[in-house]
Amino acid sequence: MKKIAIAGCGLAGLATALHLLKQGNAAVTLFDPHGIGGGASGVSTGLLHPFPGRLALRSWQADEGMASTIKLIDEVEAFTGRTAAHRGGILRLAITEQQKKDFPQCVEFGCQWWPVEKVLEQVPEATAAPALWMPQGMTVYSKPYLEGLWQLCQHKGAEFRKEAFHSSESFDLVVLAMGFQTPHSSDIALKTTRGQALLCRWKKPLPLTLLSQGHLTPSEDPLHCQLGSTYEDPQTPLDTQKAFDLKGKIAAFYPPAKEFDVLETRVGYRIARQHGYRPIVSQIDMKTWVFFGLGSRGLLYHSLLGESLARGLLDQLD
Ligand SMILES: Cc1cc2nc3c(=O)[nH]c(=O)nc-3n(C[C@H](O)[C@H](O)[C@H](O)COP(=O)(O)OP(=O)(O)OC[C@H]3O[C@@H](n4cnc5c(N)ncnc54)[C@H](O)[C@@H]3O)c2cc1C
Repeated sequence: MKKIAIAGCGLAGLATALHLLKQGNAAVTLFDPHGIGGGASGVSTGLLHPFPGRLALRSWQADEGMASTIKLIDEVEAFTGRTAAHRGGILRLAITEQQKKDFPQCVEFGCQWWPVEKVLEQVPEATAAPALWMPQGMTVYSKPYLEGLWQLCQHKGAEFRKEAFHSSESFDLVVLAMGFQTPHSSDIALKTTRGQALLCRWKKPLPLTLLSQGHLTPSEDPLHCQLGSTYEDPQTPLDTQKAFDLKGKIAAFYPPAKEFDVLETRVGYRIARQHGYRPIVSQIDMKTWVFFGLGSRGLLYHSLLGESLARGLLDQLD
């Protein structure tokens, strides 16, 4: 049996491993010194929808990405019996004049444009603003989802080593899915940002995910919610006050956030292209591939691209 090593147990590495195990007959070994979801994937606040970015432009391969991720969430939930996502839709408040002009264009893709009255009917405590209702949007619960992906991989025969990947010697193919630590050439301009998020206790759970300048997502514990997230220069010293400032930012569109109790600050590093946001899947030598650069769209793309990478790897081994 051919042997494939995967360095990195975040969304990219786990999705690639699972698709490999589903599609072919290879022995897969996963490496990660920080365990399952020890990088950015473990601190993700879970937003999954087709219109990320400030202007809510429809993402490249949005339908395909959504469908592929939802299929994996379904599989994880069926296998583990644990809920891995909150499928209550995402309400995206339009605050700026530009957003009020741009957001209604998403209506042709299955969204609704809600006037202020309808927003306040659904979320009476929200700041008065019209909003884009994305019924297909969801919040993925990082911990149960990542653990479930790993359990599925393990069930299909994968091995895990809690150590850094060092040598490709005993493997036929290698995938480096090491997030911002993935080795890369200087041909592509990349940008790393530090992101902080807060885990909080809220007084009254919301039935949906609220997004504006910052976001408020439910967590797997109904008593807790997540406030996200900062975009910081990783060269600056880590300042947890920036995470605490998220409370004020969220309170600007959902005032009850002022009263949330902070339980935990979470920190991770995203890496993305400097221009555009398509992740990078590329072969760097005869037996090594890289899969990284998912930026803020890890949930939209990890399964779709992991699946096509797995197909490419198995073709190469044939
Ligand atoms: C605060 C925050 C909030 C976010 N919210 C969202 C969101 O709402 N929706 C969304 O889609 N995305 C979100 N993201 C982005 C998302 O988390 C990333 O796109 C995604 O996690 C990237 O996955 P990855 O597998 O490429 O990297 P990572 O999850 O970083 O995984 C890389 C792994 O490689 C491991 N590694 C490093 N070196 C080695 C080595 N030598 N050998 C073996 N393993 C190694 C690391 O330990 C790490 O576990 C958020 C990010 C942050 C920081």
